[in-house]
Amino acid sequence: MEEKVRTRFAPSPTGFLHLGSARTALFNWAFARKAKGAFVLRIEDTDPLRSREEFVQAICGDLAWLGVDWDEGPDKGGPFGPYRQSERRAIYEEFLRKLQRKGYVYPCYCTAEELEREREEALEEGRPPRYSRRCLFLTPKERRILEREGRRPSWRFRVPLGRTVTVEDLVRGRVSFATDALTDVILVRPDGLPTYNFACVVDDALMRITHVLRGEEHLPNTPYQVLLYEALGFPPPLFAHVPVILSPDGAKLSKRSGDTSLRFFREEGFLKEALLNYLLTLGHSFPGEKELLPQEELVALFDLRRIRKSNAIFDIARLTWMNRVYLRELPLEVLRERVRAFAGTMWEAWEKTLGEERLLRLLALFQEEASTLKDLVLSLSLALGETKALAGENKALLPTISLVLSRIPEDTFADETHLREELRRAQKESGIPPRMFYRTLRVLLIGREEGPELHRLLWALGKRRVLESLEQFTQRVGSDHGDSTLQYSDP
Ligand code: GLU
Repeated sequence: MEEKVRTRFAPSPTGFLHLGSARTALFNWAFARKAKGAFVLRIEDTDPLRSREEFVQAICGDLAWLGVDWDEGPDKGGPFGPYRQSERRAIYEEFLRKLQRKGYVYPCYCTAEELEREREEALEEGRPPRYSRRCLFLTPKERRILEREGRRPSWRFRVPLGRTVTVEDLVRGRVSFATDALTDVILVRPDGLPTYNFACVVDDALMRITHVLRGEEHLPNTPYQVLLYEALGFPPPLFAHVPVILSPDGAKLSKRSGDTSLRFFREEGFLKEALLNYLLTLGHSFPGEKELLPQEELVALFDLRRIRKSNAIFDIARLTWMNRVYLRELPLEVLRERVRAFAGTMWEAWEKTLGEERLLRLLALFQEEASTLKDLVLSLSLALGETKALAGENKALLPTISLVLSRIPEDTFADETHLREELRRAQKESGIPPRMFYRTLRVLLIGREEGPELHRLLWALGKRRVLESLEQFTQRVGSDHGDSTLQYSDP
């Protein structure tokens, strides 16, 4: 029987979920889902200084928001738990003892200063900085003396010399590493905590992970991990190292390229559907170079062989385009819930101002032009807030505009086509040049010069609201001379 696919996502909770990590999580998730395997979430929190519980919560929350579900994890449990490394200390201790018994590790008493000096010397002499193995050759007596001085050792892995470690990477193909170029990495620190390479191998082995898909930045760790599997007597998983994501200027996508956390894009009003689709097409091509695919297809067609070997470039314009497409396709009821959640208490205020039905009409109009939820909320608050203003002579147009609009019969407001004609007639009747008439009216109604067609806005808002806005505005202009925040200048 073929072994069941098991993948994992193993974030360190030292910050919000980065876009690159979100993509790694998605690749692992899609791969496991397609193979009808299991997807495991493991929290790698062995660094007590940098790991924070709030980031565990934030990462899990953002993954769940994106639509990634895991079969085993800290909140769910599972047969190979616990799923937080900080709760697995006894397990690492047991495997350290095993390595000690077999002579795969040795204690190192070097202090941070001593190691730094060694590193500098190597660099000065043009050698790659590698641990000198000074402590490997200590006699038992020398060790005792150092321990009596109060030094606590770290445990280093004794890397076998003169060998080549070969990895058949599922993305990069065959990659070989000469062990002579490796160093004796630390597996357990003096405080007894395991380092990443050690904890990761023990956990991947015990959690029966079959495929490790991760960022290419971890490729240099892979030979150590392969050697550790061997030392511990576990079969290694298959590896797939995914090229990194670059910012458009060619630098690695990092904080310096702006905020690159998933949370940031979520708060900017990007939809989970768009982010999921975007990230799964970032460095992975789908048949026919299709860019927009429903979620089932994104999973069904995901294929490690389709991961591109070159670095992916993060392209905000493409993400924004995708978001706009998804936003337009959202059924109005779904959109309403998203916007309501995004707008918080503002939504209730708008509902009070306009009534639910009209608010939804307005939302539907703005939906056609918005790129993000944030755009939509901004459009609605401009339209329904108190921030509109006209500059200079336009104020004088208000009574006339009010008058001609008030003459449009109430029932015409229910009929969009009819309304278009009536509006044209009203403009003619006003004697105001068309451009000025329409622009002034649009600013009055939605607080900006560009936007949905006017007759559709009138239809959405209804006669009462339109006249009320004009009325309120005229009064306000009269009392405060129109000094509001948004300035609208005449051509
Ligand atoms: N905790 C590591 C990270 O966040 C996991 C790396 C791996 O997938 O092996 O980068």
